[in-house]
Amino acid sequence: LSERLSTIFQGLSGKGKLSEDDVNLALKEVRMALLEADVNFKLVKDFVAKVKEKAIGEEVFSSLSPAQTVIKIVKEELTAMMGEENTELKLRPQSEITVLMMVGLQGAGKTTTAAKLAGKFQKMHRKPLLVACDIYRPAAIEQLRVNAEKLSIPFFSLGNQIKPEEIAQRAYEEAKEKGYNLLILDTAGRLQIDDALMQELKRMKAAVPVDWTILTVDAMTGQEAVNVSQSFSEDIGVDGVILTKCDGDTRGGAALSIKAMTGQPILFLGMGEKLSELEPFYPDRMAGRILGMGDVLSLIEKAQSEIDEEKARESVRKLSKGQFNYDDFMEQMNQLQKLGGIAGILKMLPGMNKAMQGIDLEDSEKKMKQVKCIIQSMTFKERANPKLMNPSRKKRIASGAGVDISEVNKLVKQFEEMQKMMKQFGGGRGKHGSPFGGG
Ligand code: GDP
Ligand code: MG
Repeated sequence: LSERLSTIFQGLSGKGKLSEDDVNLALKEVRMALLEADVNFKLVKDFVAKVKEKAIGEEVFSSLSPAQTVIKIVKEELTAMMGEENTELKLRPQSEITVLMMVGLQGAGKTTTAAKLAGKFQKMHRKPLLVACDIYRPAAIEQLRVNAEKLSIPFFSLGNQIKPEEIAQRAYEEAKEKGYNLLILDTAGRLQIDDALMQELKRMKAAVPVDWTILTVDAMTGQEAVNVSQSFSEDIGVDGVILTKCDGDTRGGAALSIKAMTGQPILFLGMGEKLSELEPFYPDRMAGRILGMGDVLSLIEKAQSEIDEEKARESVRKLSKGQFNYDDFMEQMNQLQKLGGIAGILKMLPGMNKAMQGIDLEDSEKKMKQVKCIIQSMTFKERANPKLMNPSRKKRIASGAGVDISEVNKLVKQFEEMQKMMKQFGGGRGKHGSPFGGG
């Protein structure tokens, strides 16, 4: 679909002027894009009407190309609809206890997101306590406990015989006593909205001073996400929404609908099952994503913050001198993984969701893990000096890594090819070899 959009916009550009017919044609595609992104129908209609009005008016004054004008207006309007900036989940001062209560349907991601939030704030030097208030499924308590353990975050449970509101209360006491200042209550969900659930949540809210009732909504559920948001807002009051499973195929129309139809700010996006995969919500990027323009901006920003540029320069220098060794190889893979792995990177590029369909990403991630495992089975000397490699060493490495020797052979061969290639590259290009510029 983004291809279709590009084609239309290409068709528009160069004409110099934006006639009503042009605008209509472009907006027809925009309308399709929005509907395909699962934006509420009525919302789409209003939106398109609004943009049309603006676009035709703009024509006379604009110095942009017609295509740029349409994209600019569409994107601005979409962004405005989702709130100009991202809303911050503000906590009380460190000396006070902030209480977060996770609510949502079963499977929406409450338990996972509770842990993600705890981890995020722990990094910011808060003292979180994860509290298990979903007493209906024994696995739910265990799930939270395991997640808490993974992040070394204190965990509070009173089993499943005590009412959730009482658990919340006792956890609050515990926090006061032990100096925790961020209470995160994981609650039960149902397959659909029902009164018993709402009553329970209300009792919990009455039992402890909840600062933020946070609704987690599965982005993949599209339109349903809006209904869920509306019900929870009306019944118990919601202070912010976290849209989970945004790493999936969904284009995020739910984000637009939720904000526009319930007024709830979206605080974060869940971007995967891993506990580190929680990202701030940026309306302008989401606007791009909804239109299928790809989230290039996020990628660039992420790369800048996570890649240690000096390290990267160093390995490029080594590469072009042919000194590149297994340690450097490993370092490069680590950098790649910081960026969210191959899958994470590809997903953020425009048009990639489609292009990726034929590629087995899980397989390539697995292979990368295997390669790391093999390198880890090498001695420090072997890593630093690839020339040491010989058949008996390879055999030892293979058994250490638990792989077949052919895998080690493959890696060594690939590595050597890479080295060779880089040597040529370095020799031919001389000092100007660094793709990072300035080097
Ligand atoms: P709960 O029933 O609301 O507590 O939901 P859970 O936290 O148990 O999550 C349900 C499932 O969704 C689990 O398998 C999670 O690993 C998964 N999940 C949660 N958040 C995300 C996300 O952002 N992305 C993906 N891909 N999966 C998620
Ligand atoms: Mg749960």
